[in-house]
Amino acid sequence: MDCVKRKAYAKINLGLDVLRRRPDGYHEVRMVMQTVDITDLLTFRRTDRPGILLRTDKEELPSGKDNLIYRAAEAVFREQTQCGAIPRGQGVEIILEKRIPIAAGMAGGSADAAAVFHGLNELFGPGMSLSDMQRMGVKLGADIPYCLMGGTALAEGIGEKLRALPEPPRAVLTVAKPDIDVSTKFVYENLHADQLKEHPDIDGMVQAIRQGSLEGVTGRMGNVLETVTVRAYPVIDQIKKTMLGEGAENALMSGSGPSVFGVFRQRERAQAAAEQIRRAGLAGEVFVTEFYSPPRMQRPAGEDFSLE
Ligand code: ATP
Repeated sequence: MDCVKRKAYAKINLGLDVLRRRPDGYHEVRMVMQTVDITDLLTFRRTDRPGILLRTDKEELPSGKDNLIYRAAEAVFREQTQCGAIPRGQGVEIILEKRIPIAAGMAGGSADAAAVFHGLNELFGPGMSLSDMQRMGVKLGADIPYCLMGGTALAEGIGEKLRALPEPPRAVLTVAKPDIDVSTKFVYENLHADQLKEHPDIDGMVQAIRQGSLEGVTGRMGNVLETVTVRAYPVIDQIKKTMLGEGAENALMSGSGPSVFGVFRQRERAQAAAEQIRRAGLAGEVFVTEFYSPPRMQRPAGEDFSLE
């Protein structure tokens, strides 16, 4: 096989809580992660000379070592050529077609890195297991172990301790990314975790997912990072209000923002909300989509991943 194509799926956070800031500066979190059907497409071609050649269709993205795709590929080649699983002298050309909003709180870069691990595993056949890839991936980013398994999961620690959950009930989503750049660093630096008055009921949400109750899930949606981002960028609240006004069960910012998602029971309502957001000029990138769950084999039952 000389060519492999792989989709990279974006994620949203149905719930995001921050427990505390650790002495090393990292934040301890509890998050309900969910992949959605908004994807990048990566094409991998085997080359007969060593090296990684990355091409993207977005000028603003780096194509060298600053791109997580490059770093993930480099990590695979370094480890797998050393143990002889990939023959020396081989290289890869990677083409990225980007659709996931960039710097949006949807883990687009981490999703691409996860697709690189899976894609190179298929193309070169070194037989890396999910936990092999997660162990390599966590060194590049805390969200990568989750993106490697996808679906629905509870993430704890700094986001790397994972427990797979059942799929949530079917729903239609409107996802909108306003045209503002939000730095994840700015959001966490301005969060006062010890002064938060309210915390989302993450355990209750996990239970609602297990019970298959959409109402139980939407009723518990919450993201403590909104306390920073919504204050700094009121457009986020305007988008949420528009979604709720069109009949969303609930609406929330994803990750550190600025993307917002609304959960709807009916597709027509989700489409009307998307239309309204576009017409009002609240967001340049607007999608109507659904939750996505990868095939079971990608996420073996009971295989929890953690850094220890
Ligand atoms: P998270 O939800 O994990 O905070 P995000 O959605 O906020 O992620 P990304 O889109 O993953 O943010 O990327 C943030 C930055 O990382 C971008 O500004 C970009 O320059 C850089 N980056 C490196 N590699 C990639 C990639 N493959 N795709 C997107 N951004 C990348």
